Amino acid sequence: MSRAFIAQTPGLHFGGAAVRQLAHRAGRTPFFAYDRSAIDARIRKLRSLLPSGMHLHYSIKANPMPAVVGYLATRVDGFDVASAQEMALALDAGAAPTDIGFAGPGKSQDDLRRAVATGVNVHLESETQLRLVTALGWELGVQPNVAIRVNPDFSVGHSGMRMGGGATPFGVDVDQVPALLRELEAREVALAGFHVFWGSQCLHAPTVILAQRQSVELVVRLASDLAAPPRFVNLGGGFGIPYFAGETALDINAVCEAMHEWLPRLYECLPGTKATLELGRYLVGEAGVYVCRVIDRKRSGGRTFVITDGGLHHHLAASGNFGQVLRRNFPVILGDRPDTASNERCHVTGCLCTPLDRLADDVDLPEAHIGDFVVVGQSGAYGRSASPLHFLSHPEPIEMLV
Ligand SMILES: *Cc1c(COP(=O)(O)O)cnc(C)c1O
Repeated sequence: MSRAFIAQTPGLHFGGAAVRQLAHRAGRTPFFAYDRSAIDARIRKLRSLLPSGMHLHYSIKANPMPAVVGYLATRVDGFDVASAQEMALALDAGAAPTDIGFAGPGKSQDDLRRAVATGVNVHLESETQLRLVTALGWELGVQPNVAIRVNPDFSVGHSGMRMGGGATPFGVDVDQVPALLRELEAREVALAGFHVFWGSQCLHAPTVILAQRQSVELVVRLASDLAAPPRFVNLGGGFGIPYFAGETALDINAVCEAMHEWLPRLYECLPGTKATLELGRYLVGEAGVYVCRVIDRKRSGGRTFVITDGGLHHHLAASGNFGQVLRRNFPVILGDRPDTASNERCHVTGCLCTPLDRLADDVDLPEAHIGDFVVVGQSGAYGRSASPLHFLSHPEPIEMLV
């Protein structure tokens, strides 16, 4: 792996003595370790650049470890959740129900009952959800808190994962929003907010800036039909982190500078509205490592295979099977000898009986021996919880917040 690529990966300072200490604490491999101080530093930096008044939510699906959620509860202004279990995690961490947004295209009646009963903001994504929520409000004798998740009528380039613009199961198309607003009014349900989510994993600052500006214009346009400005406007997130060689970090200074320009316009048009960003991987992704151990090495067809006790059942994303089109290597080091020059090209694999179980292809590392630690960086988000843990029935990985 190139020195520059490794150097830009903060979690990989867990090499040498640090990885041995972590392994001692974990008691066994494989494990995920998330670094509190790295999460804290990321949030402090971001807060120092954001305009005052910009609220910050954490999207729990990025990393739902209860200790991580609890740690973030003291550092963010609210949570975005996508299931009843995530909602329970946010409430258990002490978040106020009105600081929790519940999004998702397929909310069950049970999920919605819990959300309405606790007063969590339900981000409506269809007319069906609206009907269910108002019926539950009557049944439970409470005013439901609802927002409309809008499928934006713009689409962004350069975004790793597009989740809006064009035909999608997410949100309500812009042209259907006025009818939904009339329906809410007929049912005497107040609208608490708008939610615009345009995409994810974007490293290109001009794209983020444009998407945010367009989101503001969209929300201002939609809110002109309302009697009063909504309580909040969730403008999505989409801030990416560099996973692969050649990628560079998002220019957060540029993104936040632009915010100082567009946020006053939002406040001018919608006085009293709370503007919110929702971020997942940007807050926790770089703070985590996945550590497994070399359990075998062998030669086949002129190549060296380094086989570990980890794999895609713990870390699907690092194997390249979580939405990547072309498989690329996450940043990987040999934890025992992080500063030794590479002298062997090898394939690092997991322990599963499938050719998909690859942790690093054609990677240059110091010669790996049985017992050595392999450390995968950028593993604080979409790791354990985004992996098929039961596939092949191996032990689950340990998770630690350190
Ligand atoms: C997944 C998701 C996020 C978080 O995405 P990241 O890329 O981890 O920041 C935010 N909002 C919604 C609606 C999501 O579905």
